Amino acid sequence: MVAPLAAVPQPGVVAGIVADVYELCATERSGELADYIPELAAVQPDSFALCLATADGKIYAIGDATTTFTIQSISKPFTYALALADRGPAAVAARIDVEPSGEPFNEISLDPITERPRNPMINAGAITAASLIDGRDPADRLERTLRCYSRFAGRDLTMNEAVYASEASTGYRNRAIGYMLRSFGIIDSDPDEAVDRYFRQCSVDVTCRDLAVMAATLANNGMNPVSRERALSPALTEQVLSVMTTCGMYNAAGDWVSTVGLPAKSGVGGGILAVLPGQIGIAVYSPRLDAHGNSVRGVAACRELSKRLELHFLHVTRAAQAAIRSEYTVAEAPSRLRRNTDEMAVLAEHGHRARVYELHGDLQFAGAERAVRIIEEQAGELAALVIDLHRVGEVSAIAVRMLDELAAELTVTGCQVAIVDPDAKLGHTVSSLDPSDPRGRVFVDRDTSTEWCENIVLAEYRPSDVPVCTSLTVEDHPAFASLDPSECSRLAKEFEVCTIARGEVVAERGSARSGLYLILEGRVRIGFEAADGRNHRLVTLSAGMSFGEIPMLIGEPFANEVRAETGVRVAVLSPARFDRLTEQAPHLKLALLQRLAAGAYAQMDAAVRGADY
Ligand code: GLU
Repeated sequence: MVAPLAAVPQPGVVAGIVADVYELCATERSGELADYIPELAAVQPDSFALCLATADGKIYAIGDATTTFTIQSISKPFTYALALADRGPAAVAARIDVEPSGEPFNEISLDPITERPRNPMINAGAITAASLIDGRDPADRLERTLRCYSRFAGRDLTMNEAVYASEASTGYRNRAIGYMLRSFGIIDSDPDEAVDRYFRQCSVDVTCRDLAVMAATLANNGMNPVSRERALSPALTEQVLSVMTTCGMYNAAGDWVSTVGLPAKSGVGGGILAVLPGQIGIAVYSPRLDAHGNSVRGVAACRELSKRLELHFLHVTRAAQAAIRSEYTVAEAPSRLRRNTDEMAVLAEHGHRARVYELHGDLQFAGAERAVRIIEEQAGELAALVIDLHRVGEVSAIAVRMLDELAAELTVTGCQVAIVDPDAKLGHTVSSLDPSDPRGRVFVDRDTSTEWCENIVLAEYRPSDVPVCTSLTVEDHPAFASLDPSECSRLAKEFEVCTIARGEVVAERGSARSGLYLILEGRVRIGFEAADGRNHRLVTLSAGMSFGEIPMLIGEPFANEVRAETGVRVAVLSPARFDRLTEQAPHLKLALLQRLAAGAYAQMDAAVRGADY
């Protein structure tokens, strides 16, 4: 045996609670060692260890956490898991029921009606499960069983030969169960081999830490959080945990569920393993047992931990999580596409007809149901809406279906739907859904989906008598507004008109002033490459707007990249001409600067309103 660790508490709240529970339970000295397997009575009766392993692999351990002991009945859920994986749930269910028995674990009985073992956590069911393990020969079947346990533990587990020999030489009752199973046709192979392998699986040596990692693997949907190896599929993990919930604690299962409330399994070796699905695994080792065969300190420690850490699986802190984090209209939070004054007026008046719903957290049934219901109630008034999933964690299959159906239903009733889903949590990517698909358009960010909604509102409400102005002459540009005609043509001469192809960079990030640019046609995007490798848009500017003022006036380099989003026509005032204007036509320069300042304030206002909600 490995030398016991001293009870050294680790710092922190959780470690502190674990240490307190350990201290509290260590004073308990009642119970007896199991001695019906002679070798089991050879352990240190006061040995005690407590381990917690989170579903992401952090381990809190105290006491004799590296002392080895035999797994005994805690092997049963893992052999059952392997039988399920080998034979499939239906074939296993045809031989082993999943009903609590209320009888001692080693009762020589079958269900009188089904004539099957009542569950896989009593010996009759466990020996049957052992008989269902695939393999070429007995050695291969044992090897596969050990490998399965080892995947859960994250290290190679081995058998304790002395304990095995001790049980094999005394285990007549289990042999009787094996023969009964054979005579009822539940086992159709050699019952001696199944019983022998059952003895061997029970004698696998584990530490309390091993059991905690095995429990955490069950908590983590079958994926070992320490080794990152998959030990069992999520569906079978759910099945194993279900049986542990109803049948795992011998005939004290009901009391256990009401006082601890965790799927669990105990063994006569003194171990208990308990699981809070999705959160943590707990293991306790202390070999003195109560009348049911459960570790006395183990039960006490699990009760105490469950209470202090609020682990009972029926403990509910609040009903359905609010899945909608926030919601707003596109008038309240416009896109970063700077609109001209006419468009801004339309959006201010009708922007409430397009709404953004930002969801967050994991989308399970209840949260999704509530979100879908709220969106459905409000959608009657809307021309378009955005469902933003970029802050959502896991999305359950039922939530995917509900959202898909919501989108399809709304599209049919005339409300267009955009889904912001950069990680394709609903299974659709920007390019996988056809634009006519009723399940909506997929976007990688909220900004572009908001722009899409704004376009829908504009298409519906833009007054038909206001021409859509897409192309200007230099003199029409607002930077020239209300200059008298002679000043206007004098200033226009200073500018040079040029065209830029779509996608071309007008100014690199960090480049020096290159001119004052007035956009006459097309769209220019100012953005930067973020850590995620995507180009994030700060703003898109269009005809009637300008850029390059800050480098020109302050002398700072361009803070962001400027790129043509479409083919663009600009009027450029070169730095040399800009500087010359100071001497040659100071009044024109002043007029120009006044107009640019007005434009800058309008931009700032839009930027502030568009700030993240
Ligand atoms: N090998 C033991 C037996 O079958 C396991 C008992 C247990 O841990 O419940 O008797």
